[in-house]
Amino acid sequence: MVTRIDNGSAGRANLSGSQDYILQVKGLVKYFPVRSGILQRVTAQVKAVDGVSFDVRRGETIGLVGESGCGKTTTGRTIMRLTDPTRGAIIFEGQDIAKLSAGQMKHTRKDMQIIFQDPYSSLDPRVPVGESIGEGLLIHGTPKSEREQIVSEMLKRVGLHPEHSRRYPHEFSGGQRQRIGIARALSMQPKLIVADEPVSALDVSIQSQVLNILKDLQRDFGLTYLFIAHNLSVVEHISDRVGVMYLGKMAELCDRNELFENPRHPYTQALLSAIPVPDPRIRRERIILKGDVPSPLNPPSGCRFHTRCWLAQQICTDEEPAWRDIGSENGSGNPHLVACHFAEQTKVKAGGTAMVARNFDPTAPAKESIEGPKS
Ligand code: SF4
Repeated sequence: MVTRIDNGSAGRANLSGSQDYILQVKGLVKYFPVRSGILQRVTAQVKAVDGVSFDVRRGETIGLVGESGCGKTTTGRTIMRLTDPTRGAIIFEGQDIAKLSAGQMKHTRKDMQIIFQDPYSSLDPRVPVGESIGEGLLIHGTPKSEREQIVSEMLKRVGLHPEHSRRYPHEFSGGQRQRIGIARALSMQPKLIVADEPVSALDVSIQSQVLNILKDLQRDFGLTYLFIAHNLSVVEHISDRVGVMYLGKMAELCDRNELFENPRHPYTQALLSAIPVPDPRIRRERIILKGDVPSPLNPPSGCRFHTRCWLAQQICTDEEPAWRDIGSENGSGNPHLVACHFAEQTKVKAGGTAMVARNFDPTAPAKESIEGPKS
């Protein structure tokens, strides 16, 4: 049975109660004004995030994926209130922080920390890393001796030595700098960490080390992660649930295994088809998307994906698809949320990691599978 979800209650259909959620994002909108002319009048709006809703349960990791420019980083930064939302609610621990002033955010920000993609640019090159790690503690009035103790402990937790606190950022490798970024976020003993492409700038061998550190810290400190990445393999490794964004909107959100084995949004299917298969006996049919991502200045009508979707029909141009729960097939009871008019008919046979999506007939009844993988 299909359950329709309005923008204000996404993800709650089959879950037990609001106390499970550390964060609820409801209809989040972030537009950036474009100014021109001598008077610098607003002549257009870049619709970076346009009505995104999801919930994050305490202790889980939600992965947010999508192409560059889809709005995932803006979503993370807006949740952190590094930029103010245009509209919508950001309910953290039961409080709508979208409405808080900068002064009121100071206390809440202690519980919400961010890890940036580029650890080098997020560390002051003139300041020893120990001071950078302890900066938040200093702002919140933690005494020096306690600060130094916490900094030493955090450095040890991320696999560095307490003596490293006196060194400068240029004395560390990229992986070590990202560990310092994690230690800095951790020093505030946060409840939620927004990790914005935390391993994208690192070598593959270092990526797994940093991901394992994040997992260990989550286990030991009960952390909740919003993990933003463009690499689906990384997201698969660390996430409990995964949300796929396209052009400022959420296209699909469900359990990790459900998403990788039963993707229903054509955009998700195209993204998954691009993941290399390590087994040479499995042949995956790559779905090549036509054209470029449209401009967020003037996004397409109806379904924003219709200009690139090989399944698009007239209704896709005319009507925006509802964000609705089509039910998970993995037996978890968790919602499988998707924004596609034909989500019931886009089922593909996953066959492990191989998948094929074609011969789609939108007028035909839903099929068990469209076509199995070739081996
Ligand atoms: Fe494609 Fe239409 Fe579904 Fe959008 S609503 S993803 S255009 S089939």
